[in-house]
Amino acid sequence: MSVIVLVEHTEGIIKKKSFEAVQYASVIAKKTGTTTAAVVAGNVAESEMQALGNYGADKVLHVTNYKINSSQHRAFARILVTAAKQENSAVIVTLHDVNGRAIAPRVAVVLKAGLVSGALSLPDTDKGFVVKKSAFSGKAFAFVNVTSDIKVVMLIPNTFPLVKTEGTAAIEKLDVSFEDKDFGVKVVSVDKITGEIPLSDAELVVSGGRGLKGPENWGLIEDLAKELGAATACSRPVADAHWRPHHEHVGQTGGTIRPHLYIAAGISGAIQHLAGVSGSKTIVVINKDPEAPFFKAANYGVVGDVMEVLPRLTEAVRKF
Ligand code: FAD
Repeated sequence: MSVIVLVEHTEGIIKKKSFEAVQYASVIAKKTGTTTAAVVAGNVAESEMQALGNYGADKVLHVTNYKINSSQHRAFARILVTAAKQENSAVIVTLHDVNGRAIAPRVAVVLKAGLVSGALSLPDTDKGFVVKKSAFSGKAFAFVNVTSDIKVVMLIPNTFPLVKTEGTAAIEKLDVSFEDKDFGVKVVSVDKITGEIPLSDAELVVSGGRGLKGPENWGLIEDLAKELGAATACSRPVADAHWRPHHEHVGQTGGTIRPHLYIAAGISGAIQHLAGVSGSKTIVVINKDPEAPFFKAANYGVVGDVMEVLPRLTEAVRKF
């Protein structure tokens, strides 16, 4: 009997948030007296998979019998269901991200499992299986008790700090009998994301909104980000207007990030934006309107024009 956890990777490099999911699953396994089986599909080096042992995986179930791309969510659901049946699992963990949102509900339906999305805590097993979860786009918390025999948990990335330990994971092949319908999505083309720091992994983020007035002013955001070694992000209207690429958009309909520092320049702080960033450890808001709602969520606020404040902040960081 194992806790099953889905591992995501980009061209063979396991994502930081998946190490976090494995660590989370392994704590549940310890609490419930079982082991942790991490499920990896596709071309990933053995050394990379073994690193999962440092975050609590006892074994890795490796699926290699079909070339799967990350958009083929039905195929991933089939993989998790196969792994869960083989391991007689009572708990299946995915991330609450674009992939987990498409995969976990399918798994829950097939296994007749209760599902908790947006998980922010380990389950309290003294009270059943009570998990704190994000509700109403992060505006509230709910505590839900999953009472079904099998439970599917979707963890919000960047909820727990990673703690690396010495551990080893045994690697086993997992054979999955796919059906044609599992591969209904074909990838036509891939636009590779450039940039040195992936937004989801960044500890520091500088983000811009409509207050920047246009893409021609984005150098102000990039200069500060460069000085800080930060990633860049934006509000949704900015991505919709093609000032910035869509993968930088954070919020209810974009990415969820929890960096140590989130600097929001010229962003009003609508609830849909806060849904993606309110877990940041420190929030700094720069806005010319002292009544901007973002100030209520901020640890530090600067009332001023981004065109003046950003260059001065960049200069101050440069001198520091
Ligand atoms: P605005 O609301 O136009 O705010 C611009 C801010 O910049 C203002 O506060 C203004 O005072 C300030 N400003 C202007 N000029 C300057 C200056 N020179 N110096 C300093 N400050 C200045 N939004 C998201 O971001 N992410 C989401 O995922 C998302 N999902 C959504 C989902 C749904 C279903 C809906 C209905 C909306 C969603 N939105 C989302 C949109 C959201 O409601 C807001 O409209 C959006 O976040 C506003 O973006 P903004 O703050 O950049 O722009």
